[in-house]
Amino acid sequence: MRASPAARPDAIRRHNLALVLDHIHRDGALTRAQLTQRLEVSRSTMGALVADLIELGLVEEVVPTGGSGVGRPSHVVVPHKAGPYVVAIDIDVTQVVTAAVGIGGSVLARTVVRASGEITDPVKIAKLAADLVVQVGGDSGRPGGPVGIGVSIPGTIDRANQRVAVAPNLEWRDVAFVDLLADRLPSFAKIVIGNDADLAVLAEHRRGASRQVDDMVFLLGRVGVGAGIIAGGRPLHGWDGHAGEIGHNVVDPDGPPCHCGKRGCLETYIGERALLILAGRPQPPSDAATAAVFADARRGDDEALAAVRKVADSLGRAIADLVNTLNPQLVMLGGFLSELMGIARPEIESALARFALQAPGQTVQLAHPSFGADAALFGAAEVAFAELLSDPLGATAGAAR
Ligand SMILES: [Zn+2]
Repeated sequence: MRASPAARPDAIRRHNLALVLDHIHRDGALTRAQLTQRLEVSRSTMGALVADLIELGLVEEVVPTGGSGVGRPSHVVVPHKAGPYVVAIDIDVTQVVTAAVGIGGSVLARTVVRASGEITDPVKIAKLAADLVVQVGGDSGRPGGPVGIGVSIPGTIDRANQRVAVAPNLEWRDVAFVDLLADRLPSFAKIVIGNDADLAVLAEHRRGASRQVDDMVFLLGRVGVGAGIIAGGRPLHGWDGHAGEIGHNVVDPDGPPCHCGKRGCLETYIGERALLILAGRPQPPSDAATAAVFADARRGDDEALAAVRKVADSLGRAIADLVNTLNPQLVMLGGFLSELMGIARPEIESALARFALQAPGQTVQLAHPSFGADAALFGAAEVAFAELLSDPLGATAGAAR
């Protein structure tokens, strides 16, 4: 939003405060001179904006350590060391990861609970998540509760009512998880829920290595498989929020049964269960089981290596479909697909070359996530911070009520 002549000075100030805080959040330490240049405002205006954010307890100015030692070192504006934090929760079939995250993405406290398979009941997960919010909040070393809570779910989220529509591998249908969680928390903090792949691509686009890439897909492979999409610099959610559910595109109607009730869905070819079955180890998916297949494949075990290559071939075809549909510049492979690419990149690229319609020299770039296994977790932190980052003055005034 550019300031129009009719905009009130107060509205311009609030807008500029949000911009300054967003730059600090996304890029870390910046000097006043850098901020002045980025926002194209006068030095005195920037001085006032930084002073306001310091007053709000969101940033502070520090003298960086090191440097050339020549002349007076410039102060840099950084997130305040006692500033507000959010709690991000990444719920998956095999584990629940919870973290307290500060402005700029610093992880203040983190905990991992492995799922036993019995805790996929939404009420039990809500209770566990509520306990973990309190735990990581206490461990964060920051005063008070979180300013927001972000939850990543391996399923589709209805945009209108924020309910989990379908999470096939958790066996959830139409679950009001936000309400279940809110009812179990001691204090009010806004809860925002999102699909894991959507959140992963958001984190990478906002704060990862691919922040300059405006057309990208994050293909997240866990027990389920889904795609998070940035198109033209914006998240692509679809009409009611279900875009990117490619794991349930049917490859072969006579294929293996899927948790969604259909047969031959893509995730029965490129999901963790598919890898385990192809490797001759049918068992409930777990990080340990998948890691064992990869370790054996790296050692040259024939059956494990053949399974990895077979999944890689199917994955290459799936990426070709994405390329033909969306024409992304970059496809990031997350979850266990990242390690799969580490072993069988040639098979992925070969299938991609055979099935994608690409102009010579215009091949899509394949990449590992900059946030590793934590991309969805950091995306949950991003949506939890959204309110504070979009209006620091209003959000902190609300918190002080
Ligand atoms: Zn399915």
